[in-house]
Amino acid sequence: MPVIATVGSINMDLVVRAPRFAAPGETLTGSAFLTVPGGKGANQSVAAQRIGAQVALIARVGDDAFGRAMRQGLEQEGLDVRHVATTPGTPTGVALITVDDQGENTIIVVPGANGALQASDVDQARDVIARADVLMLQLEIPVPVVTQAIGVARESGVTVVLNAAPAQALQADLLSGVDYLIVNATEAAVAAGLPPDTAFEEAAGVLRARGAGAVVVTLGAAGAVLVGDGPALSVPAFDVDVVDTTAAGDAFAGAFAVAIAEGASPADALQLGTAAGALAVTTVGAQPSLPTRAAVDALRNRRV
Ligand code: ADP
Repeated sequence: MPVIATVGSINMDLVVRAPRFAAPGETLTGSAFLTVPGGKGANQSVAAQRIGAQVALIARVGDDAFGRAMRQGLEQEGLDVRHVATTPGTPTGVALITVDDQGENTIIVVPGANGALQASDVDQARDVIARADVLMLQLEIPVPVVTQAIGVARESGVTVVLNAAPAQALQADLLSGVDYLIVNATEAAVAAGLPPDTAFEEAAGVLRARGAGAVVVTLGAAGAVLVGDGPALSVPAFDVDVVDTTAAGDAFAGAFAVAIAEGASPADALQLGTAAGALAVTTVGAQPSLPTRAAVDALRNRRV
C-alpha cells in the first residue's frame, strides 16, 4: 500500500440552516444544526485513505471535545494519528457555516490549533515524511510550516503534492519544491498574483515559471487539466447527479495523490481524481461524501 504523509488542518464544521442570513444585531431561529468533521488536511487524508493509501496526518487539535472527537474519527478511518498533537489553551479549528434556503452559504473559519502548527511539529515527524511516497499539503496551516515540510520531502526525494487552497499568492521559494500543484481556476490566478478571473492557462504558465512542476487545474463540471512539460492533458468530468459540491476538490486531491504514490501516470491520476471528485458531489457533506476505491473503480468501469 502506498504511504502518504499530510501536514495539514483539522476543523470541526458547525453547520446551521436558516431561512436567510441574520442582519447585524438580529437573532433568527434556524431549522437545523450539524457538526461535521472537516478541514482540508483531514478531508484529503481521509480521501486518500479510503482510496487506498496508508496516511499519516501531522496536525494539531485543541484540548477540547471537538479535538478528541476529530482524533478518534480519524483513527477509526485507519489513519496514523500519532503526530496529531494536542495544544493546551487553544481551541480546535472550527468553521462556522450558515446555509440559507437558497443554498447560499457564509463561512467563518477560526484556525485555532491549526494556526499553532510549527517547525517543531514537522521536525518531530521528519521520519514519517521521509518514508512516505508522497507528501500532501494544503494552505490552512501557516505557510512557513508548509515550506519547511516541502524542504524535508525534497531532502528525501519524496514527491510533493500541494493543493493551494484557500487561495493565496505563492512565491518561487515554495513553488520550486512542488511536483504537482492542484488548484481550481480562481486559486491558480490568485496563486500567480493575477486577477481572479485570469484564464487558467496563463496562470499555470506563471506558476510553472516560478518553479511549480505540473499544474493540475480542476474545472468543476468541466473536469480537470494537467499543464506540464508536454502538451496539456485534459480529462472530462464524469456525468453524475449533483447533490452537494462540498469536498469535490478534497476528494480529487486525495485520489490524485494516491495515484501518484502508486506510480500511476499523470493521465491515470487525473482519471482517478475526476472519478473521486464526481462521486463526492453526489452526496451531502465533506468527509461523509468521500468515496472508497471500490466506488471509484465502479464509476470508471462505467465510462470504459
Ligand atoms: P473546488 O471545489 O476545489 O473548486 P472543483 O469544483 O473543480 O474543485 O471539483 C474538483 C473535481 O471534482 C473536478 O475536477 C471534477 O473532476 C469533480 N467535479 C466537481 N464538480 C463536478 C460535477 N458537477 N460533475 C462531475 N464532476 C465534478
